[in-house]
Amino acid sequence: MLVDSHCHLEYDGLVEDQAEALARARRIGVHGFLNISTKQSEWDQVVATARANRDVWASVGIHPHNADEHAQLTRGELLEATHDANVIGIGETGLDYFYDRSDRGVQQKLFRLHIDVARETGLPVIIHTRDAEDDTLAILSDEMEQGSFPALIHCFTASAAFGEAVLELGLTISLSGIVTFKNAKDLQAFAKTVPQDRLLVETDSPFLAPVPHRGKACEPGFVQDTASFLADLRNEPFDDLAQSTTKNFYRLFSKAVR
Ligand SMILES: [Zn+2]
Ligand SMILES: [Zn+2]
Repeated sequence: MLVDSHCHLEYDGLVEDQAEALARARRIGVHGFLNISTKQSEWDQVVATARANRDVWASVGIHPHNADEHAQLTRGELLEATHDANVIGIGETGLDYFYDRSDRGVQQKLFRLHIDVARETGLPVIIHTRDAEDDTLAILSDEMEQGSFPALIHCFTASAAFGEAVLELGLTISLSGIVTFKNAKDLQAFAKTVPQDRLLVETDSPFLAPVPHRGKACEPGFVQDTASFLADLRNEPFDDLAQSTTKNFYRLFSKAVR
């Protein structure tokens, strides 16, 4: 049994085939899907899909790409959206200085706002970070000092030094299909060192299909290929890795009821 801790079921490339993609995943033992939102206008839809499927949950948040158009989002609006029983996480949020699609100051302000709501609700904050290790770490350290909150780095691709620093802060690491790519040697080396009780797996579908599906639209069932690759890499039986990542998911996202 596996859980896909991060997928975008409402995105083009997946939404057209959503019911079939979920059915294919269930048939191979994936029983749990966290449907991630990236802007306020998606919140109702991610929650509706979660309501319609008992093994799907939702997150509410603003992706750093979309920060500019949500510069006025209030703490109250985000907090209110978390009250639905199907909402188990906050995000995705964070910093993306690779694409720089939104002003960095606005990205940082919204990142802190998500953390604030995570601290108040106890729901984990789902963090996207790209080419922004220093600022991500500075904000996380600063905010942790003001009171701890549960958090994970999703689709982890950062340096080992950053990984060790966030593990030190108590965060969980989620690995996507990127770890299966041939040129991801540094990431693979780091993936071997993540403690078993701090590791999650995800697809980030419809993006980033793992080997051997590269070039296809990614779907939640492909989390099995990433998990299987990781089990080999880490020298763990597949069932152990499936069990521990699933246990970690339900411990971190404690509002998810099976
Ligand atoms: Zn992301
Ligand atoms: Zn995502």
